[in-house]
Amino acid sequence: MVPRVVYGPGCIDQLDSILMPKRRNTEAPFIYLVDAVFEDKPLLGKLPLRFEDRLIFIDTTEEPKTEQVDRLVALLQDNFEEIPSGIIGLGGGSILDLAKAVALLMTNPGSAADYQGWDLVKRPGLYHVGIPTISGTGAEVSRTAVLMGPEKKLGLNSDHTPFDQVVLDPELTEGVPNHQWFYTGMDCYIHCVESLNGTYLNAFSQSYGEKAMELCKEVFLNGERDLASREKLMMASWHGGMSIAYSQVGVAHALSYGLSFLLGVRHGIGNCLVFRHLSDFYPEGVALFHEMCEKHKIVLPKDICSQVDDAGMQTMVKVALSLEPLWENALGADWKKQVSPELIEGLYRKI
Ligand code: NAD
Ligand code: ZN
Repeated sequence: MVPRVVYGPGCIDQLDSILMPKRRNTEAPFIYLVDAVFEDKPLLGKLPLRFEDRLIFIDTTEEPKTEQVDRLVALLQDNFEEIPSGIIGLGGGSILDLAKAVALLMTNPGSAADYQGWDLVKRPGLYHVGIPTISGTGAEVSRTAVLMGPEKKLGLNSDHTPFDQVVLDPELTEGVPNHQWFYTGMDCYIHCVESLNGTYLNAFSQSYGEKAMELCKEVFLNGERDLASREKLMMASWHGGMSIAYSQVGVAHALSYGLSFLLGVRHGIGNCLVFRHLSDFYPEGVALFHEMCEKHKIVLPKDICSQVDDAGMQTMVKVALSLEPLWENALGADWKKQVSPELIEGLYRKI
């Protein structure tokens, strides 16, 4: 779990006092990985840059990649005499995962691709801080850093992955475009549906999942896009992330990973594209999802897979089926009897 967290509108102003005791010396900088959307934005003025500290803007048009992590690690190793005091990620799930992975690869040898899987990271990473600027993924609280690798999209799941410190400031999510607010928010909603309807469910996951679900309903069925909703969605994301920490996601994520791997469809919208066709698996959850789309006037694109050839389709099906824990959570130990490549292809063809 994340050992330290501050919360509240404006709490980013505490960053200086949070970082000060963690600064090893004036030559050991803090490295800020910042979503390029904030270039020239007033938010940068709130970052307490001192001494050798460095801001690196990251374009998030594509989701983070293992080779991108390797390049950033090489850059930090080549450009600074001292090992950095810490890595700070300021942005959405893409940046948060990138920051976690860079912190781990600064102290663990090899490529980030070597650590895609479960418990492969052996040493603690550099001190790392997560500051989310959009709510939903739960990446601020989770034990994984999801990366696209040469062979798969899979997280670096380990006890060393979670942030050492998280700063939850609901003011930072104010400028998120409406459609993205919805897609990333739905990632949280779908985490809840998959966790609460999964066979891995237990009292720990249920307690967090139910709270996150309640908050998602308040935000997306009854709320306006105001500070109250931003506060609620920030905490929904946190609780949703905690819920899947001790359970798993399910069918929507398995299929969404295939879409993302082949077509580069981004996580939030990818989940939505898949989820609307999953009423056989999650009837109540999908019905409510349609209600939320309607209320927020979201019209999802169609025919995403219409140009996919047979080889591409086989790749997507293979990626989706390879995520065995997700299927087992969704359908139980005998999931292989219930899911065929044809069934998955049929779902992809609808998207
Ligand atoms: P994102 O980080 O890719 O950001 C989405 C878009 O929103 C970007 O264009 C970004 O520039 C913009 N944005 C973010 N904050 C903004 C702000 N305050 N104002 C204006 N624009 C803003 O999207 P995401 O949905 O947060 O994250 C998706 C990533 O998270 C995927 O790579 C996915 O694999 C990963 N993920 C990780 C976990 C985990 O537990 N580690 C869980 C779910 C998803
Ligand atoms: Zn997700």
